[in-house]
Amino acid sequence: MELITILNQCYRQKGFVYQDARFVDQHGHEIEVSIVPRKGSKANCSGCGKSCPGYDRLPTRRYEFIPFWGFKVFLIYAKRRVQCGACGVVAEAVPWARGKHHLCDAYMLYLADWARKLSWKEVAQRFRTSWEKVFHSVEYVVNWGLEHRDMSDIMAIGVDEIQWHKGHRYLTLVYQIDSANTRLLWIGKERTEATFHTFFDQLGEEAVKRIQYVCSDMWKPYLNVIKERANHALHILDRFHIVARMNKALDEVRASEHRAMQKDGYEPVLTRSRWLLLKRPENLTQMQDTKLQELLQYNLKSIRAYLLKEEFQHLWEYVSPAWAGKFIDQWTTKVMRSKIEPMKREAKTIRRHKDLILNWFIAKKAFSSGVVEGLNTKVKLTVRKSYGFRTFKCTEIALYHVLGKLPAPELTHEFY
Ligand SMILES: [Zn+2]
Repeated sequence: MELITILNQCYRQKGFVYQDARFVDQHGHEIEVSIVPRKGSKANCSGCGKSCPGYDRLPTRRYEFIPFWGFKVFLIYAKRRVQCGACGVVAEAVPWARGKHHLCDAYMLYLADWARKLSWKEVAQRFRTSWEKVFHSVEYVVNWGLEHRDMSDIMAIGVDEIQWHKGHRYLTLVYQIDSANTRLLWIGKERTEATFHTFFDQLGEEAVKRIQYVCSDMWKPYLNVIKERANHALHILDRFHIVARMNKALDEVRASEHRAMQKDGYEPVLTRSRWLLLKRPENLTQMQDTKLQELLQYNLKSIRAYLLKEEFQHLWEYVSPAWAGKFIDQWTTKVMRSKIEPMKREAKTIRRHKDLILNWFIAKKAFSSGVVEGLNTKVKLTVRKSYGFRTFKCTEIALYHVLGKLPAPELTHEFY
């Protein structure tokens, strides 16, 4: 069986034929396969796609294809230029590669698929290619996916921010959080009102009208934009963000009390207590649980704050928004009397946003509650894995690639 036969089987090109295959370098590491137009077939204009009379030939180019048994493989072709009535004299379109790309579509899809599992650097090393080529492959797949994705059926969205780079630089992320479809929809620089407005602008009025639920944290610019742009939707404060804030407050209490105790020479009972207090009791190991029980004997601010936080968790068990509202009133009153400042601050915030929190109970069945948290974790992982991405562009493409659930161009043969 010849290489050409295999190529015809897996990567046949309409209007073209594979002519011959040969080793090109002296060590036999590279294979070139020439392509020529099928006799009598006309070239298609790369501008409008119409078949047009030929004009002349461009110099030959090498298109890198999927490596084969340790050999690099290149398709060799000299494009025709066509005389198109609409577009003028332009290069023809070839079915195996787009525009100025030097990689075959199939190879780009192949690299991009690996780039979902490995870092871009690892993919480049594994396939003995460059980081740039992996990047361009992912970029091609992502751009194709963004152009072809369906944005018509979005019922619930969630907005979230992540810290990006060192210092206080943020990205705004918008997810679709319908239980049937969760995916990353959009990424914007910064976390300003202007950022979030851009999302609504790009989504378009028709699609915005169909949104019924918007989930967010308490970041004021987001709250403002939601009020302005999606006032028809039910706005919900996400459970994950509320719990995260309360954990942060509890951690402040614990850290400052721990420092104060050390300074005043008390027995350092709070040493290594951080995760005992932040984790849910059901997630503790046997040993951690024993240690927590000991800790609970002390009358410490941290312990009182911990008990308040754990008590607050009962909120999510309510079914009726009215009863949940009563619970919030009672709980916040209790916290306001506690004299624990960071917790009081949270209680005030919760009171101020009570209606938006109660919307969570009204919308409960519309989407799964852990979804924003899950997506947030995946985003952080991707950003960490892609550490070294200096530019927004790279981060954006990596995130869309991993979390966008984008459609991909289809190949007739499954190379991977
Ligand atoms: Zn044309």
